[in-house]
Order: sequence, then structure tokens, then C-alpha cells
Amino acid sequence: MELSKQSVLIVGGGEVAERKLDLLIKANANVTLISPEFTENINNISKQKKFKCIIDKYSDKYLDKNDYAFVIVATNNEKLNEKIANDAKQKKILVNVVDKPGICDFIFPSILERGPITVAVSSGGSSPVLARMLRTKLETMIPGGYGRLAKIISNNRISVRKKLKNSKSNRIFWEQILNGKFVELILSGQDEQAIAFLESEIKNFDEDKKGEGEVYLVGAGPGDPDLLTFRALRLMQQADVALYDRLVHPSIIDLIRRDAKKIYVGKQRDNHELRQEEINDLLVKYARKGYRVLRLKGGDPFIFGRGGEEIDSLVDENISFQVVPGITSASGCSAYSGIPLTHRDYAQSCIFVTGHLRKGKLELNWEKLIQPNQTIVFYMGLISIDIICNELIKHGLDSSTPCALIQQGTTPDQKVYISTLDSMEDVVKKEKPSAPTIFIIGNVVTLRSKLNWFQSD
Ligand code: SAH
Repeated sequence: MELSKQSVLIVGGGEVAERKLDLLIKANANVTLISPEFTENINNISKQKKFKCIIDKYSDKYLDKNDYAFVIVATNNEKLNEKIANDAKQKKILVNVVDKPGICDFIFPSILERGPITVAVSSGGSSPVLARMLRTKLETMIPGGYGRLAKIISNNRISVRKKLKNSKSNRIFWEQILNGKFVELILSGQDEQAIAFLESEIKNFDEDKKGEGEVYLVGAGPGDPDLLTFRALRLMQQADVALYDRLVHPSIIDLIRRDAKKIYVGKQRDNHELRQEEINDLLVKYARKGYRVLRLKGGDPFIFGRGGEEIDSLVDENISFQVVPGITSASGCSAYSGIPLTHRDYAQSCIFVTGHLRKGKLELNWEKLIQPNQTIVFYMGLISIDIICNELIKHGLDSSTPCALIQQGTTPDQKVYISTLDSMEDVVKKEKPSAPTIFIIGNVVTLRSKLNWFQSD
């Protein structure tokens, strides 16, 4: 209902009335409230927002005064609520009695808005909470950018129709457009490019034309599928081809579009199933064929992920791409082990380092790592853990500094080994943790005894 020039009455001044008031103010309705008293919040907002509060008990004379589009009944007196509903019905004013669907003329569905797009969910009064839950589910499926998307489409519909006389090709055109790069450009905030792309598509539209390929370099996070971003999930579900490596957890692979071609490209330490150049070539090959290619990487693609190298070759080949950040394993493991990487009392900085050996050596600027109040996080450090601990001690870090080795963080197989610099090597020898592991060194590790919350299997 368009309410911007309509008057609406709410009978009641409590929290329920407050919620409806909020909704109606947003819809620009001209609202009047009647109640002997109002919540503090209503009194407060009445100072900034335009609506009328009548401090009085309800009487049916208030229904005569104005031309109300409808009345909302929200007092805490059931009998009175019924009476008001009857009065309103007699005067032929639409009425909604909160939580009494049987005597309502209309309902307030749970609403999701994206610009001109509105989705309303109603449970017919049987369970507003369930309706809200469903709306929240839809919320995650329909990104905020859909509002802008709808507006841009609306601005261009006429010119498409003018160019394409045949209504069938009009539909095909929009189906193609809405299934590809145009939508992605808008959802990633590149509206100008999206409009330029749309205009060129309108100009060059040819029913037999094949789509242009694209590569999505996506961070899959450390393991728990719940840690994927919305965009990651969306791109995973629209890819035609997916290239993934060992670090991507199997439960995440399951979320890739079922009929996408899935290619395992390995990347185990020193046993790369495919060399980096071969992976780069595959990305180029599939994108050239017009496919939407998903390159799924563990954690974040730009943190020890060689993401930069992979898109480098795409730039050379003039293939469009986008990069989606993921939760890097340092922050995933930190959260799921109850070890904050910084803390006002223990660490003001944190440094991410690779423990990957080159020709059996680890050449690092050790002095730089050993700073007061700094947490050190080693990626790929399991194989070199003895070197790491020894070098840090040799360069002056106290041998009793607490450290944690976190195996398969954020997954049901997560294990956390706590020790000190001089004893971690023994722990590893004894416990034989399996990769992948993150190694966190610093006084923040002591916080785990208090902050640990995640229970793995
Ligand atoms: N791009 C990734 C890192 C790739 S390097 C990221 O941002 O996380 C590979 C290293 O990541 C592994 O050797 C290990 O140190 C770390 N790693 C990845 N997933 C992990 C997990 N679930 N638990 C612990 N460490 C993990």
C-alpha cells in the first residue's frame, strides 16, 4: 500500500506499537497514536520525527475524526482490542489487531527490500518468527546490489525493446545478461563498467553469439564452510568450471555448482600435482572457451596463495577476472582456538610469515620478527618447526615464550597443541600433528585457557 499521503492510526503506546510506528514512519505515512501513556522511546522519537501522539484513552470518536487508511490495534487489553476492531469494521476502516490474525483485514508480512524489488513472507499469522527466519534466509540469497541491478535494468529496458523487435529475443537477451558478467559487475560495485558493458551488449547482441569467459579467484577460508563469504558462495554456484586445491575442505567443494566441471589441481608441499604454469594455462584455456572459471583457494587468495601470480597471466591474456577475499587461516585458527592475535595487554602487532623451506633453508629477517609485544604467525611451518624455534631462541626470543600449533583449524578435526618455544619440537615429535597447521608464537597464547570456546570432534 502506498502510504505517503495517507493517515494511519495506532491505538497503543507500548513496544508493539513502537515497532509498527517505526515501520509506518519508514513508509512516510501520516501517523497518529492514541494511548494514555507512551514508551520513553516513542516520546524520544516524537521529538525528531513527524507523527502525532494523543494522550488519552481510546474512544470511538477518534475513528470519526480522520480519514484513516487503516487502524492498528496494539493495546495489552484483549477485550478492548476486539472492541476497537469491531468499531473500525463498522466504520469500514481496515483493521489489524496485532497477533490476532482471525480478526485482521490485512497482515504485515515480513519484508525484504532491494530497491524496487520487494519480497514479502507471510505465515498467515501462524508463526511470525518462522516468517522472519525465512526472510533472513532470503536475505542471504539476495545481495544488497539487487536493488541497483533492478534500477539499471529498468533504465535500459526500453532501449533493449527498441533494438529487439522480437519478444523472444528480448527474453533471451535478458536471460543472458542476468546470468553473467553484468550482474557480477553490479554486485561488486562496478556500476559504470556494468552500464558500459550492457550498452555494448545491446549494440552487439546476436542470438548466436557465445558469452565471454571470466575467472573468479575466490578465497574459500580455512575449512568451516560457514566462513565462506556470500560472494564466494554465489560465484561457486554459477561457475562452469572449478579448479581447486588440497587446502579447500571437501565440505566446501560440495557447495560448488553440481554440474560444474571440477578439476583438482593438487598443490601438496613439494608434490604439486600441476605446476603453477599449468594451472595458469588452464585458467586461460577455459576462460577463452567462454566459461566462467572458478579458481578456489584455501584461506585468502592473496595471503601465501599465489593468487597474484595466477591473475597476472590473466591480465597478460586480457581475460576479465575478480578476486574474492577469504578468511585467512591465521584469523580462522586464532578465532577457533581462542587466541586473539592482538590484545591490548600482550601484543600491539602481529606478523604473518612463511615457514616454507627453500632448498632446505629458511632465510628470514629474524630480528624483525622478534619485536616486543608482537605475535608471530607461521604459515607452512610444520616441516620447519625445529628451525623456527631454534632460530627465534638464537636471535633472542625467550625460550619460555608460549606458542600454539593449530592443526586443521576451524574444522571438526581441529587440534591445538600448546607449548613453549623450547619444547614445541618435542611435542611435534610425540604427537605427530598433520598438516595443515598454523604456528602462533607470543604471549597472546596464554589467553586460550580463558577464551577457548570451540569444541572439535
Ligand atoms: N592462502 C592461505 C594460505 C596458503 S599457504 C590462507 O590465507 O590461509 C598454506 C598454509 O596455510 C598451510 O601450510 C597452513 O599453514 C595454513 N593453513 C591453511 N588452512 C589451514 C587450516 N585449516 N588450519 C591450519 N592451517 C591452515
